[in-house]
Amino acid sequence: MQNHHAARQLYLLYHELHTDTRAYAYGMDTSRFAEHLALIAAMRNASSEPVQAQITFDDGHRSNHDYALPLLREHNLQAWFFLTAGWIEQRADYLDWRQAAALHAAGHGIGAHGWSHALLTHCNAAGLQKELRDTRALLEDRLGTTITALSFPGGRYNARVLDACAEAGYTRLFTSRPQTSVPGQDGLIGRLNIRRDATAEWLRGLLAEDGTVLRGLERQDQVKTALKRLLGDRAYASLWRVVNRAEADA
Ligand SMILES: [Zn+2]
Repeated sequence: MQNHHAARQLYLLYHELHTDTRAYAYGMDTSRFAEHLALIAAMRNASSEPVQAQITFDDGHRSNHDYALPLLREHNLQAWFFLTAGWIEQRADYLDWRQAAALHAAGHGIGAHGWSHALLTHCNAAGLQKELRDTRALLEDRLGTTITALSFPGGRYNARVLDACAEAGYTRLFTSRPQTSVPGQDGLIGRLNIRRDATAEWLRGLLAEDGTVLRGLERQDQVKTALKRLLGDRAYASLWRVVNRAEADA
């Protein structure tokens, strides 16, 4: 799926899909996700997109296989799935190995999302070994493919985590910061976390020529980063949970 126009890439981050309404801010209706895919496919076919949307999923929820896989096939789109290795076949509502293999067999990219979803910035050396090296080894062994992409649980990373990722053989590191990238870019790659209330119309504005919506999100991210620095990681996380719940109930 190389793009000869070399449009800027904007990786979108999804989590779960549902056929009923959930309170979880990142659990999206399948019908809304289908609208997103229809828009992305239409823009790609028109090849007039100034920003090319790419689809990613974090965590390895069952719905990645049950709902996302057939919808992606229907729209002839490829995605990335970042799997939490220790949850596969171990945690209710998450993928089993057969389902993970089906995602890979359909041509989608498979990446790592840690072993236990621990924030990598909170892991000691032994923890990083498990979350990075053991995860990569298990995914490669079970899926028979080379794994070089990783997305950070909770979007958290620092210089120590980046060193450990490089040592563990990861070359493409997906963040949760809304930044565009160039096709095939190595190193840190920005992503935009998509909430369940994000309409296709909003997405169209996001990918539009003038980039106003995207620049607004980048500014918001700068505010969030400044807040995190001010409050510390844990205080920020609890504040963020409160804000998310309030918005999800609205
Ligand atoms: Zn996650």
